[in-house]
Amino acid sequence: NMSFKKEPVTLKIILIGDSGVGKSSVMNRYVNHRSTNMYRAMIGTDFLSKTVTIDKDTVTLQIWDTAGTERFQSLGPLLYRGAHCCMLVFDVTSKASFSALDVWRKEFLFQAEPQDPADFPFIVVGNKTDLSDREVSRGKALQWCEEIGAEYFEGSAKEDLDVEKPFLRAALSGLWQY
Ligand code: GDP
Repeated sequence: NMSFKKEPVTLKIILIGDSGVGKSSVMNRYVNHRSTNMYRAMIGTDFLSKTVTIDKDTVTLQIWDTAGTERFQSLGPLLYRGAHCCMLVFDVTSKASFSALDVWRKEFLFQAEPQDPADFPFIVVGNKTDLSDREVSRGKALQWCEEIGAEYFEGSAKEDLDVEKPFLRAALSGLWQY
């Protein structure tokens, strides 16, 4: 009696944004919080993987933190291509990191060359909400997200606040493409 296994679903999620906004912190917090399986890749970029169950689907999220791309510029297209979702991360205490997301987003679309750029799922994440010297309001972030058709989440990797939500949303938007 044979059992047929469905092909495992792997979703590639890319985290981009200015250096220091907390990309690796967010990723590590999410993956290690309830870690199932994780490992680090050997090239300049870090990627962690985490298996989650959504409804009855088991999905492996392959989460790429592109902190290394400043050093490995030529890897950009390689890293971005085949992504199912892009997380644009900024620091809510840095207006500059928020403004920079527009360029990050364009750069991503340019390098990833998704089939349908207008419908590509972007998720915007405002990190460091634990800090009091906030420069970007929730309303301002939501307004831009509405303009570009992205979803907005905010939280704190440091305080482990609302870190999971954007990843689950990313998993859902990725599954939808399968
Ligand atoms: P990356 O360059 O975007 O990967 O940023 P890192 O994850 O290396 O974080 C940059 C700095 O911000 C580090 O000193 C972190 O400890 C700090 N950091 C990251 N997330 C938070 C957060 O939610 N709140 C606060 N207060 N600091 C954070």
